[in-house]
Amino acid sequence: MSDDQAIRRVVIVGGGTAGWMTAAPLGQLMGRGEHAARCEIVLVESPEIGTVGVGEATLPTIRYYNRTLELDNAEFIRKTQATFKLGIEFKDWGHLGNHFFHGFGEFGPAILNRSSVMHWLRLHHLGGMDSHEEWSTATVMARRNRFVPPEGDLPSAANAYSYAFHFDAGLYAAFLREYAMARGVKREEGTIVDVSVRPGDGFVTAVTLADGRRIEGDLFIDCSGFRALLIEGVCKAGYHDWTHWLPCDSAQAVPCDKVAPLTPYTTSTARSAGWQWRIPLQHRTGNGHVYCSAYTSDQEAGQVLMRNLDGAAQADPRQLRFKTGMRKKAWDRNVVAIGLSSGFLEPLESTSIQLIMDGVGRLIELFPDRRCDVHLAAEYNRRMARQYESIRDFIVLHYKLTKRDDSEFWRYCAAMSIPDDLKHQIEIFRRSGRVAILDPDSFAEPSWVSLFLGLGCWPQRHDPLLAQVDEQALRTHFERLRAAISGTVDDMPDHGAFIEKHLRAAPMEMVK
Ligand SMILES: Cc1cc2nc3c(=O)[nH]c(=O)nc-3n(C[C@H](O)[C@H](O)[C@H](O)COP(=O)(O)OP(=O)(O)OC[C@H]3O[C@@H](n4cnc5c(N)ncnc54)[C@H](O)[C@@H]3O)c2cc1C
Repeated sequence: MSDDQAIRRVVIVGGGTAGWMTAAPLGQLMGRGEHAARCEIVLVESPEIGTVGVGEATLPTIRYYNRTLELDNAEFIRKTQATFKLGIEFKDWGHLGNHFFHGFGEFGPAILNRSSVMHWLRLHHLGGMDSHEEWSTATVMARRNRFVPPEGDLPSAANAYSYAFHFDAGLYAAFLREYAMARGVKREEGTIVDVSVRPGDGFVTAVTLADGRRIEGDLFIDCSGFRALLIEGVCKAGYHDWTHWLPCDSAQAVPCDKVAPLTPYTTSTARSAGWQWRIPLQHRTGNGHVYCSAYTSDQEAGQVLMRNLDGAAQADPRQLRFKTGMRKKAWDRNVVAIGLSSGFLEPLESTSIQLIMDGVGRLIELFPDRRCDVHLAAEYNRRMARQYESIRDFIVLHYKLTKRDDSEFWRYCAAMSIPDDLKHQIEIFRRSGRVAILDPDSFAEPSWVSLFLGLGCWPQRHDPLLAQVDEQALRTHFERLRAAISGTVDDMPDHGAFIEKHLRAAPMEMVK
């Protein structure tokens, strides 16, 4: 690559979670020293157009993102009012009264190269094994409200779990803004009213702000949220609409006073036309009702939300609208869409921030020069599409396996046609107890098993090679493992007490 084609200025459009999560690693890589002289990073955010700001639950990989930035974990937790998340508790999804947990981590160490839960399924088939959840350390911890970070490298009950965070998304964006600006990222405040495009190839060359300022660039990262200012407004990249499979199109969100105990998990409760989330933070509890406007009114959805808070509401509910789906091209010409501008999947498995992280990671891996080679864009789009589709299918699974028939919405979900890949994944599990992972960057085997079993989809047969393990020895192994997990968890501190002792955030009025 000849250096005269190197990118000289990256312009990030938007200062929500996506904008600052993009600016921080780019600033770390390029904002200082020799690179800074060669490549400038500018982020434009509008004081008039707000952010979505309700992304509060994450997946364990957020820890790798934070670690790559070399963030101080304790400072991050205190500054974002964070709590720990061991997984998601699902209520009323499979049927009214159904209750299961999607915990982070394995169901014990692998045996003869087969995951522990596959052996467990064999024993279940033979009889006498009730709930797989007793072998998920994360689930046992969550049920007893315990938390301590895992320790050690060797597989054991004490480290067979993983964790993520719940945090205040607005405070996280502010924390990353401070980080990025300390590494040379420039921030411009203003509302973009015009976009200049180069004749011939249609590359974006500059954005113009309402006060007339013009910001030129070589690479534009569209983090403008649902507006999709550049990727749709200028590039007309198009949108795959997935409403047929994920019909929810609205949400109302409201914070409420926190209540004890401080639970180390998200709760998702199915309602008659959608579902409600509950996310405990240090200073408040986040709540929201995601629903389908074809089956309930905004007024009714708001009433359901407010009736089901476990503390006093701190504000009026905030209304949000969306269309589930994915941009046909997340990277088009010299525009890369990251965040809500690239697509939206409802927050049932907290995947939006994950998609932002992976979007930024792939952009860094495939970072172009000023030509923005179409093959780099094609590879980026291929990988993003595969991940989006795989997450979509995992979310659709929650709806499709329901046996609820108490409302029109649930009857629609149970009867709807589903993507062919998901049909295959359900069938292979139902018939043989195997999990087909179609995208290694999305949910892994324990997550799929938690969902299948939690929703009542049990395999008819199991892997025949498992029979080489002696049944009685296996039963003894599982019994010992259950006792080890239970004993380990008994010795762990209460989640709230652990935070209070080590990581308590400053009261909100002191948080800048
Ligand atoms: C109901 C709901 C619940 C969610 N829950 C979760 C969750 O639990 N976990 C999770 O991972 N994700 C969740 N998400 C998704 C998460 O909120 C978003 O992925 C995340 O906030 C990123 O948003 P964004 O930065 O792309 O867009 P936004 O927050 O909308 O930011 C857009 C930015 O673009 C700027 N902008 C727009 N137009 C212009 C213009 N003309 N000129 C200048 N600037 C402009 C705005 O000022 C703003 O700074 C949820 C989303 C919704 C809708």
